[in-house]
Amino acid sequence: MKLVSSKNLSEYFIIVGCGRLGANLANTLSEEGGNVLIIDKNKEAFRKLSPSFGGLSVAGDGTDFDVLQEAQIDKANVLVVVTNNDNVNVMIAQIAREIFKVNRVIARLYDPERECVYREFGIDTICPAILSAKEIDKMLLRTGSTEKLDKTACELKEGTK
Ligand code: AMP
Repeated sequence: MKLVSSKNLSEYFIIVGCGRLGANLANTLSEEGGNVLIIDKNKEAFRKLSPSFGGLSVAGDGTDFDVLQEAQIDKANVLVVVTNNDNVNVMIAQIAREIFKVNRVIARLYDPERECVYREFGIDTICPAILSAKEIDKMLLRTGSTEKLDKTACELKEGTK
């Protein structure tokens, strides 16, 4: 599934947190021709970006207004916050929505209990624990609890074997 369609090719994506998820997302969006900028407080994190990454990177704390302004957050159509800290993610997501009026804000939250609260503030949330539970549920439904899947998730994704 493509993340960037011809409809949102001209959109400006900001990602905060260049960890495993953030870097992966930035690489994919950039490969698909998206206009991407990624922020991380640790510049070593940018090593996770692929050599062909065509976007920009800013080293700095995503809660810092100067950093967000350097990233031209006021021009962002989409902001994805995936640092490893729920409080930081929520703070940045709220700054983006309330102050800079970013249209689409998506935040990762490790704590499933908080998810619905932030939805009310117009912040979309993804919760790895809930997503994983749903996937496990789907796997068990597909095969029953005693049988193993005949293909691994990777093989299914790549359409191999
Ligand atoms: P991961 O745990 O692999 O998803 O990585 C999370 C990333 O978020 C790491 O590269 C951290 O350096 C980064 N990070 C954590 N807090 C902040 C922050 N306040 N601003 C920018 N990046 C951050």
